Amino acid sequence: MKASRLARQLYVISSSESLSDPADRVTAEASKSIIQLEGLRRDFHVGDEVVHALNGIDLQIDAGAYLSIMGPSGSGKSTLLYILGLLDVPTAGEYRLAGINTAQMNDNERANARQRDIGFIFQSFHLVPRMNAAENVELPLTLAGMAPAERRKLVDRALDDVALGDRAGHRPDQLSGGQRQRVAIARAIVMQPKLLLADEPTGNLDSSSGAEVVDIMESLNRQGLTLIVVTHDPDIGKRADRHIKLHDGNVASDRRTEASE
Ligand code: ADP
Ligand code: MG
Repeated sequence: MKASRLARQLYVISSSESLSDPADRVTAEASKSIIQLEGLRRDFHVGDEVVHALNGIDLQIDAGAYLSIMGPSGSGKSTLLYILGLLDVPTAGEYRLAGINTAQMNDNERANARQRDIGFIFQSFHLVPRMNAAENVELPLTLAGMAPAERRKLVDRALDDVALGDRAGHRPDQLSGGQRQRVAIARAIVMQPKLLLADEPTGNLDSSSGAEVVDIMESLNRQGLTLIVVTHDPDIGKRADRHIKLHDGNVASDRRTEASE
């Protein structure tokens, strides 16, 4: 499996940690962050009004972190996640992804980073109804121009990762909500991204299906995937190692789970 662009970038950065030049050490220190946000703002113009959805967010997120984002409806959670997923661009401020200033990426580089390095999961699954589970999971690989034999291997592995190897031929309407979200997770991780972003992934699920979905995401995080989960559910939010609360487009609190917990 070829190392992704982002993985290569991370490798280049981490290999510089042994250098003795203090300037290089500073770079290496900063680049343990997969995500660096500085003064991030997002305004929406609605008629004559301007909505300040994000009001200047500063945040560093370590590679491999497990972070939850909570906060009232309208506090900017989805807006932030969309920007992190390169699905939207900030009005002002800086977003560095693996050390790369995303504002300087051209369309092609953005599309590549989105395709290879970032997985996104939505509350309402966003599966293609006419396609079975395997075909849904295969879609990003087809779009990436991968050969069929390699596609099949990766699809099988991703469906196994979400314990749905035996449902590959089922369409979404033949699956439960929890199973649909697991197909969506398989699709999000089939390119083996570095970053998994989930916007209220359990919002449409009963608690036991929700717990299964969270268990799967957590096991992917233990394998090294950086996991960011937006949730309304405090029981899910508190499972993360780091808890961000947004309020009116600002970070209202940023806490880490105590080691003793
Ligand atoms: P959350 O996910 O925390 O509920 P959002 O990020 O969806 O909040 O929204 C934050 C604020 O930005 C809200 O006031 C919302 O109405 C506004 N907003 C979000 N997206 C848009 C948009 N596309 N156009 C106009 N306003 C938007
Ligand atoms: Mg939202």
